[in-house]
Amino acid sequence: AEEKNREKSRQSIRRYKIMEKLGEGAFSKVYKGVNIETGENVAVKVIQKYQLDEKQRASVLKEVALMRKLDHPNIVKFLDFIENDQFYYIVQELLEGGELFNQIVKYTYFSEDLARHVIIQVAEALLYLHESAGIVHRDLKPENIFFCPIPIIPSHSRKLRRSDDPNTKLSEGEFRMNYGGGGIGLVKIGDFGLSKQLIANNSLKTPCGTIGYTAPEIVKDMKYSKQVDMWALGCVLYILLCGFPPFFNDNIEELTNKVARGDYEFLSPWWDEISSGAKRCVSKLLTVDPNDRYTITEFLNDPWIMDFLKRSNESR
Ligand code: ADP
Ligand code: MG
Repeated sequence: AEEKNREKSRQSIRRYKIMEKLGEGAFSKVYKGVNIETGENVAVKVIQKYQLDEKQRASVLKEVALMRKLDHPNIVKFLDFIENDQFYYIVQELLEGGELFNQIVKYTYFSEDLARHVIIQVAEALLYLHESAGIVHRDLKPENIFFCPIPIIPSHSRKLRRSDDPNTKLSEGEFRMNYGGGGIGLVKIGDFGLSKQLIANNSLKTPCGTIGYTAPEIVKDMKYSKQVDMWALGCVLYILLCGFPPFFNDNIEELTNKVARGDYEFLSPWWDEISSGAKRCVSKLLTVDPNDRYTITEFLNDPWIMDFLKRSNESR
């Protein structure tokens, strides 16, 4: 009987102490939680079942099955799934830094090095999804990218210490701090388009849509593939560098037309100081024809990206 009780508690949300609310999605509330047995901090996504029809419930389960299979340092780790009469609970690793989006708001925009530090990690996750898992994310945006905070060390003091002893190699963490300033350590993709799928299946129209991360082939209703993530990656990189999105318009129709034409600009004065290498990389991603757009491998071989990776390896 005791064994049975333990089995039951294993499948019960009572294994977790639920703490403060971290955020809210269209169909979910996310809470900080603690695994009572292990003391591990977690994030618990709570979804009320009554508001979902059969089809939507099926897509929750499908999404969970997919998340279970993913294993990559730049993808938020799935830990547990619990279901009772009223709720679904999706338990994930807690990312203390929260949304990357809030960090952009806080700093207005990132230095080129910090932007590369972030975008390369997002790209590593995409490489895994595209090449190993055969998955298209389809909802990549700053709100779905999470990070772990790291302490900030002024880079000049770091440089002095390095030149004292040329044999001292920086650890990966130290290298990141060097380029930090933003206090961003590990970066992870956190949301697997669950809410997007639910909204798409819902009769309600999505209330968002003044900012476009959607690729031209989607707004034009053409067949689309992995390359839509590369477009979204371009949108995220654009935002990291200047602090605002490449496509925005209060009128959804005008926005859609702009995206379809790939009609964006490197607006002055915000882009004046940004290197031509960075702009070139962005433009290779924000290319209307998906066949001409950078693939994930091409992106990781872009000279502006390679330059950073080379420096990062040299300093280790
Ligand atoms: P939805 O799929 O409904 O959009 P999200 O997964 O994006 O839900 O979660 C909603 C919010 O909860 C996020 O924007 C974020 O603020 C917070 N959150 C979600 N997952 C985590 C996590 N693993 N660690 C920390 N905060 C999280
Ligand atoms: Mg979300």
